[in-house]
Amino acid sequence: MKELQESVLQFARDRDWEKFHSPKNLSMALAVEASELMEIFQWLTESQSRELDAATRQKAAEELADVFLYCLLLADKLDIELLNAAKSKMQKNALNYPADEVRGSARKYHEYSKAP
Ligand SMILES: [Mg+2]
Repeated sequence: MKELQESVLQFARDRDWEKFHSPKNLSMALAVEASELMEIFQWLTESQSRELDAATRQKAAEELADVFLYCLLLADKLDIELLNAAKSKMQKNALNYPADEVRGSARKYHEYSKAP
């Protein structure tokens, strides 16, 4: 992951794009890419969204990659070690959503009786 992060940083450096990469701009770019991913699924039925054709699946992979690459750029800019942050957030999620209490429910953690 470090290698990929360095590669995307170098890509920006080579194009003199770092000057555009404030945390504000990167967070917006990340959201735009997430929207491009959502646009692929917009208007599809639940069933259609599960059975993409090869070309649409490839487009989804590219937009998902765009989101990921902006995550790497933003994490670098904020000096966040993304793998550690994700592991830490998973631990927090496990505390907020005890499997025995939340199984099969889509409610938010504060809606459960044991909410922190
Ligand atoms: Mg894109």
